[in-house]
Amino acid sequence: MTDTAPLIDPFARAITYLRVSVTDRCDFRCVYCMSENMNFLPKAELLSLEELDRLSSRFIAMGVKKLRITGGEPLVRKGIMTYFEAMGRHLASGALSELTLTTNGSQLRRFAKPLADCGVKRVNVSLDTLNEQKFKDITRWGRFAQVMDGIDAAQEAGLKIKINAVALKGTNDDEALSMIDWCHARGFDITFIEVMPMGEDMGEGLRLDQFWSLKDVQSHIASKYTLIDLPDNTGGPARYVRAEETGGRIGFITPLSHNFCESCNRVRVTCTGQLFMCLGQEDEADLRSVLRRAEDNTALDAAIRKAIERKPKGHDFDYSRQRVAGEMTRHMSHTGG
Ligand code: SAM
Ligand code: SF4
Repeated sequence: MTDTAPLIDPFARAITYLRVSVTDRCDFRCVYCMSENMNFLPKAELLSLEELDRLSSRFIAMGVKKLRITGGEPLVRKGIMTYFEAMGRHLASGALSELTLTTNGSQLRRFAKPLADCGVKRVNVSLDTLNEQKFKDITRWGRFAQVMDGIDAAQEAGLKIKINAVALKGTNDDEALSMIDWCHARGFDITFIEVMPMGEDMGEGLRLDQFWSLKDVQSHIASKYTLIDLPDNTGGPARYVRAEETGGRIGFITPLSHNFCESCNRVRVTCTGQLFMCLGQEDEADLRSVLRRAEDNTALDAAIRKAIERKPKGHDFDYSRQRVAGEMTRHMSHTGG
């Protein structure tokens, strides 16, 4: 027997948004995300494509409407289109309303069209700079021209594009305005993300003085544009404004801010099948072992429900960066941004 009642947490929040990390690997080594020499997980630790399908499908059966695929770099996972095709069938049936992904853009030339064919309508492309040398400095291994070409391919395939830029003082602060111009001229939304200290080895590529508060980013942007607040209905940590002069949208994501917790509708699954109920807390549920123990979904459904019953009201650490740095020892590439 399978269970299809909606997932409601103890604070009456319906869980309708799932983020799934499909790999911990990446073809880039962004300084705020990975160290240069990463030890990636052995294949057996990762959920197989079939397991990803099975797990995601259970969440969809229990009311998840929006699915975001992330990583690592989701498009470097071998055979990933099989999984997108499988999720496309939930779009076709109407069970899922949106299938989307966050990508560094490097593989979009190859995958944009197949993604669109699966029903993907929008992609988030992470791009922190339009300067080729800075791009190299930030991503270490990334090739700027390849990403630009990937973005072109996504546009040609009819995908709507949102650019995500991590705000880094002393690195891309001089580009905030020109990036908005570039995005809005091409019809893209742009969202700035406050950098989070994550991983044990953040000292290597990212300095604490690179932290650029989004409050300051917004004031800087307001020196050029008239910003009109837009109603927040994402249930997530993003706030949006419209620049009156361009008509385009600008978002601000403060990943660890508290103000959205009461409307939080999301949970995350890592590439190893660990379910995180809150990005800001360490509590997790091991769904992989449950899933591998039986082919039948009864135990899996029960484990998902039991985990959702533990979804916390919000993050409970006080918002001091040093303390966050001490507590958030897992990498974004593992939990999937
Ligand atoms: N590889 C894909 C990409 O870069 O879009 C998807 C995974 S990546 C971990 C998801 C998002 O997390 C990216 O937009 C990236 O810029 C962001 N990110 C990674 N590390 C971060 C950090 N320490 N602070 C804030 N954002 C971070
Ligand atoms: Fe790779 Fe994305 Fe992390 Fe950059 S942010 S290293 S592209 S996973």
